[in-house]
Amino acid sequence: MFWRWETNVKLLRVYKIILLMNKRIWLSLAHMGGREQDFIKEAFDTNWVVPLGPNVDAFEQSLVEYLHEDRYVVALSAGTAALHLGLILLGVKSGDEVICQSFTFAASANPISYLEAKPVFVDSEKDTWNMDPVLLEEAIKDRLRKTGKLPKAIIPVHLYGMPAKMDEIMDIAGRYGIPVLEDAAEALGSELNGRKCGTFGELAALSFNGNKMITTSGGGALICTEEEAKQTKFYATQARDAAPHYQHTHIGYNYRMSNICAGIGRGQMYVLEDHVARRRTIHSLYVDLLKDVAGITVMENPDSRFASNFWLTCILVDPKLAGKSREDIRLRLDSENIETRPLWKPMHLQPVFTDAPFYGNGTSERLFDIGLCLPSGPTLTDEDIRRVVDTIRAI
Ligand SMILES: *Cc1c(COP(=O)(O)O)cnc(C)c1O
Repeated sequence: MFWRWETNVKLLRVYKIILLMNKRIWLSLAHMGGREQDFIKEAFDTNWVVPLGPNVDAFEQSLVEYLHEDRYVVALSAGTAALHLGLILLGVKSGDEVICQSFTFAASANPISYLEAKPVFVDSEKDTWNMDPVLLEEAIKDRLRKTGKLPKAIIPVHLYGMPAKMDEIMDIAGRYGIPVLEDAAEALGSELNGRKCGTFGELAALSFNGNKMITTSGGGALICTEEEAKQTKFYATQARDAAPHYQHTHIGYNYRMSNICAGIGRGQMYVLEDHVARRRTIHSLYVDLLKDVAGITVMENPDSRFASNFWLTCILVDPKLAGKSREDIRLRLDSENIETRPLWKPMHLQPVFTDAPFYGNGTSERLFDIGLCLPSGPTLTDEDIRRVVDTIRAI
């Protein structure tokens, strides 16, 4: 009996190792720091289970402190809601044109359509994979020529956490007097010239969806001035005029963040710095381990002015040198229980936006063809990263 018991224990250990070896490695999972539940409990204990309250105020305040600039933050139900209200604040109306980075997630562009405005897509440049300033100016001039009007706003994106070339973009936007709404949904913690992404444009949107830098289970925020913060809160709570009865002179929205979600966000602020550091470490590990693999290049900061949070580490697969395509690699990794994802499909290739004007140079199409996002979440261990790289090497 004793002997058998020992054998069973040993067998169990072997099973466990096999299970651990083959556990699914996900692209980007949320990670809780531990304080989140305290703040949620506080909300329940004090009966603040509503879309405003002490957690919302404290979460906004800690974001303001984190951003380190003279800015205000309004917590909302989603990053998409922040972009939508941002465009409303900038006065975007039906028939207006709004310039948007083509290489992005659809949520950057959808709010333009909510307002019956027209997206105009601009391609990326090779250094940051974000809005090409040269094409941006070309697009502005061409729209002015063709429609007699300037676009109403510009939406650059800090994709995968990499800061866009904001010096150049702000300079061009300033010369034409067009306001910039930064989509910083993926870039919390990223910096350009030592300044946080989300503090360059007139307005900026953050996202706290499940797989972003920090999560509130779902949520977002608008970064703005004090006056704009007042307006944002007004529109986000059904645009109620100052009257004891319910009176409205504007169309409003129900976009405020709940005090429960903000409790999660408040807790996440304690681990934000760690998350940024961990994602950067994961990126350096990939750079190091993949440096001698033929045909594979890891996306890196173009120079020392750029400090991506490396929300996701991305690689490009040159099929001629690697002998395999991006899709070969993605499918093989998937069969080995490793989740990866192609880079965003550009908006000018999306069926829903086929009619939108596009100013291109081929960059985003090429990136979409050969790019892959690797597992990058803060819960990954160094061992997980080695398993991903070893699997890529084996392919
Ligand atoms: C996630 C994301 C958004 C939208 O944020 P939600 O909070 O999911 O609404 C917008 N733009 C980009 C680039 C994103 O990655």
